[in-house]
Amino acid sequence: MRVTANRDTCTVSSLCVYRAPDVFDQDDDGHVLVLDPEPPESSRAAVRDAARSCPTRSIHLDEEE
Ligand code: SF4
Repeated sequence: MRVTANRDTCTVSSLCVYRAPDVFDQDDDGHVLVLDPEPPESSRAAVRDAARSCPTRSIHLDEEE
């Protein structure tokens, strides 16, 4: 899995950080930061949940290895 996020469309909702804090954080302005673009298997369910929950669809997951 490869994780990317579009900071231009992120609306600082923080949902991804709550759902997958090992993988997402926010900068000083609140926009999403991807801490771990290739998360381990143990984090992937939370990352998928975070991507589904993002209100602006700003998180993209490439499931191909
Ligand atoms: S859930 Fe989406 S809009 Fe909210 S902080 Fe994360 S990337 Fe941004």
